[in-house]
Amino acid sequence: MNVKDSIIAELRDVPKTEIHLHIEAVTTANTVWKLIHKHNTKLENIGSIEDLESKFNVTSLTDFIDLFINIVQKSFKEAGDFDLLMDDLRSYLNSNGIVYTEVYLAPTTFIKNGIDFSEIVSVLNKHADLIYKEDNIDIKFIIDVSRGFGLDNAMKNLDLTIANRTPRIIGIGLGGAEKVGKAEIFAPVFEKAIKEGFRVVAHAGEDDDYTSINSAINNLKVERIGHGISAMENEECMDSLKKLQIPLEICPTSNLFTQTYVKKIEDHPVKKFYNRGIFVTINSDDPTLFGTTLLAEYALLIQNKIFTKKEIGQLIINNLRATFMDQDLKDSLEIKMRESLNNKGYL
Ligand SMILES: [Zn+2]
Repeated sequence: MNVKDSIIAELRDVPKTEIHLHIEAVTTANTVWKLIHKHNTKLENIGSIEDLESKFNVTSLTDFIDLFINIVQKSFKEAGDFDLLMDDLRSYLNSNGIVYTEVYLAPTTFIKNGIDFSEIVSVLNKHADLIYKEDNIDIKFIIDVSRGFGLDNAMKNLDLTIANRTPRIIGIGLGGAEKVGKAEIFAPVFEKAIKEGFRVVAHAGEDDDYTSINSAINNLKVERIGHGISAMENEECMDSLKKLQIPLEICPTSNLFTQTYVKKIEDHPVKKFYNRGIFVTINSDDPTLFGTTLLAEYALLIQNKIFTKKEIGQLIINNLRATFMDQDLKDSLEIKMRESLNNKGYL
């Protein structure tokens, strides 16, 4: 067994959490192929499952965008299609030993394609309840109100979220191109969400500079930051992240794909943040689209000598601590997690 596989095998059974995961990005080529057939969708250059599998073999950001927008999102036509997606999510969570997750769902494109939001929510809830019952995995959802379609669209998404709220829908997020939709534009949406008792997070500092992170903190009052990579360029921003202890949802492979702030893994600022006392967590972001998993992210960091095994153990605990889980559940899971990490030499 090679080094990567042995790390993955060691960490597989440690109960883990993941807090930065997009539901569309656990889709497999097989699922998309089934949907294309079901709806008789015509997609350019896709005539066989092999064509599709080669599209899933993403090697650049352009490939990724093409796959995500032109293939994956276009293949979903009705709420029932989310049955297959939830099956993919279930197998992803099981194969990574994830026992609790907060998953992003960005409904804008699906709604624009005519799928009813409340029907999507009911499919997701039905599966999440079943997965909890049968596999003891707890899935929560964070609705990404989208930064790329303006304030009115984001407010509409929040209102739909409020109207269809279930105990599994715990918060809202803000994803998409940061330079197109600056965080401050969405302040009214976040203010209303907080009043409604939702947890709030935002992607920031992924493809825009550190001011985007500051804006999300100051204008949106977010409790976590997705990525936060561009903080590396500004001492004050790093100091304030440390002082406020706002968790960063770091996704190393994803940052390597976007190539905005990180060109190669050795230059990733995650260790610098960690050493400085910033609250860091590790996540996969878009597993099937980037060809990664949560376990593979941990293995990548150990293999490249960015973190030791014991530091990875701490990062696994950090991820749990950054969740929005009830404190008593969090405490009892931490005991189990520590025991398991200890047994394997990761603490
Ligand atoms: Zn993301």
